[in-house]
Amino acid sequence: MSARDDRLQTRILHAGSPPFEHGAAPVNVPVVRTSTVRFERDADRSALHHRREAGEAVSTYGRHGMATHRALEAAIGELEGASDVLLAPSGLAAISLLFIALLSPGDHVLVQDSVYGPVRERVEPLLTRLGVSFSYFSASDGVPAALLRPTTRLIYAESPSSFLYEVIDLPALAAFAREHGVLLVTDNTWGAGLLYRPLALGADISVQATTKYLGGHSDLMQGAVSTANPELARRLRDTHDALGLSIGADDAYLALRGIRTLAVRLAQHGRHALEVARFLQTESRVVARVFYPALPDDPGHALWQRDFTGANGLVSFALRHAQAADASAFIDALRLFGIGASWGGYESLALIAPASRLREHGYWRGAEPVVRLHVGLEDPADLIDDLSQAFRRVLK
Ligand SMILES: *Cc1c(COP(=O)(O)O)cnc(C)c1O
Repeated sequence: MSARDDRLQTRILHAGSPPFEHGAAPVNVPVVRTSTVRFERDADRSALHHRREAGEAVSTYGRHGMATHRALEAAIGELEGASDVLLAPSGLAAISLLFIALLSPGDHVLVQDSVYGPVRERVEPLLTRLGVSFSYFSASDGVPAALLRPTTRLIYAESPSSFLYEVIDLPALAAFAREHGVLLVTDNTWGAGLLYRPLALGADISVQATTKYLGGHSDLMQGAVSTANPELARRLRDTHDALGLSIGADDAYLALRGIRTLAVRLAQHGRHALEVARFLQTESRVVARVFYPALPDDPGHALWQRDFTGANGLVSFALRHAQAADASAFIDALRLFGIGASWGGYESLALIAPASRLREHGYWRGAEPVVRLHVGLEDPADLIDDLSQAFRRVLK
């Protein structure tokens, strides 16, 4: 049996491991920090330069990354089922990279209305300035046939979506995109590659904020764009080079280290979050609705069961009979949950979902304030006690 036959959990533990030299090797890849790559002879330099020009992920300069970066790309490639992975200094940089790489003036993109907010707030204005037009579609309405234009080049989706975890029928969207010759890109930060594999379900490109679960310890900013299509990889690599996107070897190492424990952390986040979500459902006097696709009554549950292999630590809920100020007082009263954006670290967090973003999409029309929890690795009984005391103190 070859390494390729091993299961995903096994492959991500060993991808990028250093080879033996003289019969021995460290378990972990070294952190190779450099700007200059030295060559023994000029012929070695030009040979490597030509391989790079032909699209190989080899390095002739520190900006391209060295062995630590190659190891991380190999591990993310296993996670995503990708042949090519481009690393970026944040998740948002990875998203902007792919839009800039794949679109030209006059092109049109279709974006799911419940995607990560800065795509609408930051990336759209940038691309609009460069002559690209945007339309938004609600995944609740099925495939966006009515919005398609002759100039539509790309569909951008995220499943489950930010804050409310709208699960989309990705294979159906992929069939629609293929039929019309449009590229399909999805943000896979929620599934992290282990819970969800968009390339296998028909997407052309998967992008992740590796800042979140791959890092796993709230000490890293990083993103990755993955594809199994060599032509797309070449376009992405050219733009990646032109933008001079580069990450430090220490940060590449941190993400690689995170990947080695991803499966055990995600399983624990998912178990704890399900416990918290079930508790929230019992608090029906103060909680109007719980958003978590692993709950059987979540509208996305059937698709989640079909396409995902697990759930993560993100749970949101709408507060009944509450104003924005009540939601603020509630998260202020929490003792164990920090107040903060980002997520995917070991610690629990709470954040109020910006009301303006919830109004922008068609998935949910409620007016109640929404609290997003990231359920960390603390004992879930302590987290439930904490939520319970904050409910009692503030909302009853
Ligand atoms: C956090 C996040 C991003 C952006 O990642 P950064 O590393 O913070 O720039 C993109 N997409 C989703 C779904 C996210 O949650």
